[in-house]
Amino acid sequence: MAVLITKPKGTADTLPPESASVRFIENCLLEEAKIFGFREIRTPVFEHTELFQRGVGETTDVVQKEMYTFEDNGHRSVTLRPEGTAGVVRAFLEHGLFNEPLPQKYFYFTSCYRYEKPQAGRLREFHQFGVEALGTAEPAEDAEIIALARHVFDRFGIENIRLEINSIGCPACRKNFQKALREYFEGYKDQLCETCLSRLERNPMRILDCKSPVCSEIAKNAPRVLDFLCEECETHFEKVQKYLDVMGIEYKVNPTIVRGLDYYTKTVFEFVSDNIGAQGTVCGGGRYDGLVKELGGNPLPACGFGMGIERLKLLLDAAQIELPAEATPDLYIAPANPAFSPEAMRLTDLLRNAGNIVLTDVSARSLKAQMKFANKIKAKYTMVLGEDEINTHKAVVKDMQNGGTAEVDLDKLEDAFRRILLADTIGAVPDDVKPGLETLVLLNGGKE
Ligand code: ATP
Ligand code: MG
Repeated sequence: MAVLITKPKGTADTLPPESASVRFIENCLLEEAKIFGFREIRTPVFEHTELFQRGVGETTDVVQKEMYTFEDNGHRSVTLRPEGTAGVVRAFLEHGLFNEPLPQKYFYFTSCYRYEKPQAGRLREFHQFGVEALGTAEPAEDAEIIALARHVFDRFGIENIRLEINSIGCPACRKNFQKALREYFEGYKDQLCETCLSRLERNPMRILDCKSPVCSEIAKNAPRVLDFLCEECETHFEKVQKYLDVMGIEYKVNPTIVRGLDYYTKTVFEFVSDNIGAQGTVCGGGRYDGLVKELGGNPLPACGFGMGIERLKLLLDAAQIELPAEATPDLYIAPANPAFSPEAMRLTDLLRNAGNIVLTDVSARSLKAQMKFANKIKAKYTMVLGEDEINTHKAVVKDMQNGGTAEVDLDKLEDAFRRILLADTIGAVPDDVKPGLETLVLLNGGKE
């Protein structure tokens, strides 16, 4: 069957059982964020275009080339969020959250939209787990968010990922650095790409981030930002490293990291892997002390990171880290004929209320077809409801793994099934749960 319309280039469908792995990953991230005292924040998928122009920066690749911007029917220019931070800071200001105890620490899961050249690990719609800590200038916070990212990788047992850190200074030291960069790049004016030429005047630091092979080759010998740090920025950077040291977090200072967004100050960092192809940066972040003011608030220091969920998944796959399998049904209840379907539905509902994963026939299938289906969906147990079962209020639960069976009282089904699940199998009941099974008549395996 041919599909009439396919998904847009650079987007992906996440289908079961893959979706269960992604959900598992998200749940782990959520737990780690909570452990570190971050709370969830949700912001709109689209914002006024100006938010990103100001918040991400006019001279960035994201704003210059990658945004999904359109006019809505009310003739307002809106943009699908290309990243998470600007929206969070906007919400923080709009709701006066600076009046809450500081720092305010938020995490989020967002879809992001960037018009890029799709390839492995680079999509046009991708997903980020992000954290933002607003309201402290202390290096302890920089270190804390780096530690959170590290915990995430450790939790999954990912070893092949390295932390690279750098400081890009504050506006004061940046000024001298930009000047030195401008002088350096002036010498390569005839070779730089068009975008970088336009950056030469406005923001030469962005040239360091250019992906074009020619520009990045030229950038290799450009002046290093670490040589331009003022005393305060230098001390800050040293302290960040001290905190990382005491937590036993390994890192490498990489003076070439400048990060893709304009709002960063002082600490920037990336977690990079060599195992997932060219798009090796799984997590990137840093301090952005200038953003709150840029978006109209009173100056307030902050830092955060964004972690690409798709790239994290690639990393887990590359390391062959097995995630828990998708949950299969605990029980399939098969009405032997359609007349017993309502009773099957009632019992199904009863067991679902107790939290069990239970399925029953919703397709008016023959008993034989139902059993085939139960097998295919890997139901752990099955139970047939026929004339006898309805009349005697007794039915047989069958273990689909070993064929073991147990008779259960339908009037106490919830309790009986709980015991079966506790024993984990019929026919091979572990000693410590055997005493709990007295209400079950074990038909085989358990019968003397
Ligand atoms: P890159 O240099 O790879 O383009 P970036 O600096 O643009 O990354 P950030 O804006 O810092 O990326 O986003 C944070 C994280 O989001 C990245 O480290 C990456 O894991 C993920 N990410 C960014 N762009 C994409 C994309 N197009 N597809 C999938 N993941 C992405
Ligand atoms: Mg990018």
